[in-house]
Amino acid sequence: MRIELICLDADDTLWSHESYFQDAARRYNALLIPFADPAYTEARMVEAEERNLHLYGYGVKGFTLSMVEAALDIVGDALPAGAVKQILAIGRDLMRHPIEPLPGVRETLPLLAAQARLVLVTKGDLFHQEAKLAASGLGDHFAGVEIVSEKTPATYARIFARYGAAPSRAVMVGNSLRSDILPALAAGAFALHIPHEFEWARERGEAPLDEPRFAALEGFADLPGWLGRAD
Ligand SMILES: [Mg+2]
Repeated sequence: MRIELICLDADDTLWSHESYFQDAARRYNALLIPFADPAYTEARMVEAEERNLHLYGYGVKGFTLSMVEAALDIVGDALPAGAVKQILAIGRDLMRHPIEPLPGVRETLPLLAAQARLVLVTKGDLFHQEAKLAASGLGDHFAGVEIVSEKTPATYARIFARYGAAPSRAVMVGNSLRSDILPALAAGAFALHIPHEFEWARERGEAPLDEPRFAALEGFADLPGWLGRAD
């Protein structure tokens, strides 16, 4: 079956992402050590983030607001303005973390673009994701960029239709079983999991090993080989 549309996740598929969030969380926990145990701080932060996802969506700005909110929950009115300033600085640093393509990405994208249309499919903040794509220098390979609020089967069905591809001729590639793999399979496409060393706890899931349209690849450079076999 010839693949006509290759949808690619961005964060931790094309470039590193989660490790920067984990660094930010460590800086945040360290900042609040005078007030609370780091495990407690972290748990309150994760709660605030979960609570606010439906309001702020994914991305650094919502994460920053949740850090401030959790700090206020923990410390109350005694939270020093200096601590708020430092939390905002952690958020700003996250907005401009370096964008370095992961191993194999830069060399492999032109090979993929020669065989099928490439579409970037990512959650998060429109402004930040577009800035990251520009900073990566990879934008020219893509026929389109789809920044979505959630990755559901309906999201993928809509994207396949928009680019005129039958789901059976589309593949989604990403590091998250929960967002990239399971909903794309449910929409009838192929799905390729390329695990990344760092994974956000929310994005974990069970690999659908019995599903013939699923495969796990070791790295991005394995994609052309898979496409050759799918032909
Ligand atoms: Mg990802």
